Amino acid sequence: DRSALVSRAPTPSESGPAILRVAVAAPLAELFDYLPPVSPAPVTLTPGLRLLVPFGRGRRVGMLLRIASHTEQDPARLKRVESVLDARPLLSPADLRLIEWAAAYYRQPIGEALFTALPARLRDPAPVLDERIPGIQATPAGLTVALDALNRAPRQRDLLALARAAPAGLALADLRASQGDCAATLRALRAKGLIETCHLAPGLTPSLPPPVSALAGPALNADQQAAVNAILGALGGFRAFLLDGVTGSGKTEVYIRLIEAVIAAGGQALVVVPEIGLTPQLRARFIQRLPGPVAVLHSALNARERERNWHRAALGEATLVLGTRSAVFVPLPRLALILVDEEHDASLKQQEGFRYSARDLAVRRAQLTGCPVVLGSATPALETLHNARLDRYGWLKLPERAGLARPPTISLLDIRDQPLQAGLSSVLRADMRTELAAGNQVLLFLNRRGYAPILTCHACGWVGGCPHCDARLTLHLNPRKLWCHHCGWSQPVPSLCPACQGSDLRRLGQGTERLEDNLRPLFPEVGIARIDRDSTRRKGELDRLLGAVSRGEIQILLGTQMLAKGHDFPGVTLVGILDLDHALYASDFRAPERTAQLIVQVAGRAGRAERPGRVVLQTRHPEHPLLQSLLREGYGGFATVALGERRDAELPPFAHLALVRAEAPGASEPLAFLRAARVLAEGLIEAADAPGVHLLGPIPAPMERRAGRYRAQLLVQCGERSRLQRFLAHWSPALRGLSRTKGLRWSLDVDPQEM
Ligand code: ADP
Ligand code: ZN
Ligand code: ZN
Repeated sequence: DRSALVSRAPTPSESGPAILRVAVAAPLAELFDYLPPVSPAPVTLTPGLRLLVPFGRGRRVGMLLRIASHTEQDPARLKRVESVLDARPLLSPADLRLIEWAAAYYRQPIGEALFTALPARLRDPAPVLDERIPGIQATPAGLTVALDALNRAPRQRDLLALARAAPAGLALADLRASQGDCAATLRALRAKGLIETCHLAPGLTPSLPPPVSALAGPALNADQQAAVNAILGALGGFRAFLLDGVTGSGKTEVYIRLIEAVIAAGGQALVVVPEIGLTPQLRARFIQRLPGPVAVLHSALNARERERNWHRAALGEATLVLGTRSAVFVPLPRLALILVDEEHDASLKQQEGFRYSARDLAVRRAQLTGCPVVLGSATPALETLHNARLDRYGWLKLPERAGLARPPTISLLDIRDQPLQAGLSSVLRADMRTELAAGNQVLLFLNRRGYAPILTCHACGWVGGCPHCDARLTLHLNPRKLWCHHCGWSQPVPSLCPACQGSDLRRLGQGTERLEDNLRPLFPEVGIARIDRDSTRRKGELDRLLGAVSRGEIQILLGTQMLAKGHDFPGVTLVGILDLDHALYASDFRAPERTAQLIVQVAGRAGRAERPGRVVLQTRHPEHPLLQSLLREGYGGFATVALGERRDAELPPFAHLALVRAEAPGASEPLAFLRAARVLAEGLIEAADAPGVHLLGPIPAPMERRAGRYRAQLLVQCGERSRLQRFLAHWSPALRGLSRTKGLRWSLDVDPQEM
């Protein structure tokens, strides 16, 4: 108990470290002071070590951040660290600096930020994983057997040859990365006594010889070469670049050349991507072309694999780290280059818990490290374009498709007053027939999953709504249920109207399930595949569908925005965009930007091979300025118009925003909390010397009730980032002190992406 601990505490010596400042693994903003452990730590106390500390009535994992000589607390009441969990610091001073900067900038609790940056398992008092790397090596028999003896099992023969060439052993992870799944082959070799499992010490794993399939890659065109030269010329110091290249212009090829150069010079490269699950092609290309262990980090890996890859990066062994958002924090002792692919993608922003932008932190990290950072996109975020136009970022353009591929042409198809079948106008249907007859593939984009977005009673007007949200239930037929896409709630499909018992229930509107059903009679004997979150839920299903498309077994491919990301469909010559009209009039000020990006990204899937592609966009608003500027001048022209509107409306990137969201079981509490937050803010603007900070709201959120909770928001806007930061530094701690009704939760989002 506490008194026992206190009475045992020796007085801090003059010279030795006395007070340990610790960030506890919890959403708490403050650091906590502790005394060193009773028994001498097995390792010098250094920031970056995890400690087990008494906390409240229990104990928590914490991280040592500072060693101080005095405390603001009553020293007699300080508790002792129970134990030191690590044999070496998990984070270096540079890593800690980045994370502390992020926590301060985004006004997030330091404990939460730190432990978001670490592999999940290390939030518990678990020791770090055994850092030895599981591998295989040839047995004495395997070293001497004649390889010809295995001629009838060529895979076994090839793997054994690889193992023989690496007497210290081969890491299983590398083997899997370069050879694919080879578990059965390895089992067979083990059963024959030709190989055995072993452990490799980190730092000693030999790099596999580049896979047999490794290609030199095409000769770069002039634009690519200029981009590579500019970035290579910046190595060794900080510089940010926008690699602004249309889809298929060879951005990935530029990344590969850059990474090759960095690895050859003994450095490490970090590649951050929005969603790895959707970009297996990118991963495969990196692994095929680049030497040295690649550490992949994403949520589909199990916790141990992820932690193992994290250690390989942190120990300097992996030369390339490829990962989603949180990879931006992975320790890399020889970091020399950071790449962010699809930098415009909203999923680079973490929307819950520790809210941060992995893209913006990548730039900050490059600055702290002193290395170049490259943001790549065919549709750059307006913020990034703005920085490029102001010359803050080097602007590298790849305006043309690499090789022989031609860019797609986009045309609008006015469907006002047109009869539609399966949501397709007769013009689009005819175009599809022409392409299919010529042996080409067609892609249809409909950004709405399920069968029908509305189920309604024709007699009384009842509409299926979610009992927990201000939202309608979507009808799904496979499996058959009414489903809320906002909270996940579902119910059986009623056969009679729940309100009037009438039997005439009608399905209004069309989702991807219905589109698929409606297409089959229109295009009999044509292979049709649907790609959306529902059709690809089963593991391996997405790969199976993509495989069928690339082998030409599928002629019509339909789906949601999953189709807009990462995959190439070289056989597709016609893209139909069916219904984006609702997005043209959405309330979020970023909706036009996101819509333009989606159109251009979907269009980019077409005609990547030698056959040119065509994009047909069905709309009832052909005169809409967004569509017009996009059509006439492409994404760059659209961006100019959109940036002008942002400037007039004083929105990012011409102003900076922070959003406080509050939610509670009742409708009035979030608004009351935010009103109090506003009063508090008004009183602080002067104290913070932050004139020009404007408060907008509170107002109910666009969907006020979700998952049974009412939501509201208060927006803070300021023309100057530093002023906004100064204000937030005063306001956010004060917000924590505001009284809250039971069940009320709130969060602060700096540079919010969605509102
Ligand atoms: P992006 O990443 O910009 O979409 P990629 O790097 O994937 O573009 O390149 C698109 C296609 O063009 C790929 O098949 C790639 O191998 C090929 N390619 C890239 N650069 C060249 C080049 N200089 N010459 C010929 N083909 C190229
Ligand atoms: Zn009814
Ligand atoms: Zn719901």
